[in-house]
Amino acid sequence: MAGCIFCKIINGEIESDIVFENDKIIAFRDLNPQAPIHILIIPRKHISRIEDLKKQDSSLMGDLVFAAKQIAVKMNVKGGYRLVFNNGSNAGQEVEHIHLHLLAGRKFTWPAG
Ligand code: 5GP
Ligand code: ZN
Repeated sequence: MAGCIFCKIINGEIESDIVFENDKIIAFRDLNPQAPIHILIIPRKHISRIEDLKKQDSSLMGDLVFAAKQIAVKMNVKGGYRLVFNNGSNAGQEVEHIHLHLLAGRKFTWPAG
C-alpha cells in the first residue's frame, strides 16, 4: 500500500536487516530494539489491523506465529520469548501494517506496560 513503511521494506525501497523470509512473510530487526533480540514478523500482504482480517487470512496469522518459532530456533533463543501484536492506538500501534513483535534475550514483566 502506498505510503506504508512496511510495504516499502517488503519491496526493498527501505533497507532492513532481514532475518527470515518466505513467499508470504518477511521478518527483520526492529530499528529501535526493546530487547537484545527484537524482530518484526509481517505478512507480505498489506493488512492494517487485526479488525481488518478476513476469514481467509486466519492461516496467514498462524504462519506469522510459526515463523516466530522458526526464527527463535534459528537464533538459538534460550529462556523463552514474548510475542506481541500492538493493535490500535490504545495499544501503541504506530505502523498500520499488521506485525508480530518477537522479543527475546531478557526477562519481561507482566502485566505489560
Ligand atoms: P508498533 O508500535 O506499531 O507495534 O511497532 C512498530 C515498530 O516498527 C516499532 O518498534 C519501530 O521501532 C519499528 N519501525 C518503525 N519504522 C521502522 C523502519 O523503518 N525499519 C525498522 N526496521 N523498524 C521500524
Ligand atoms: Zn503495508
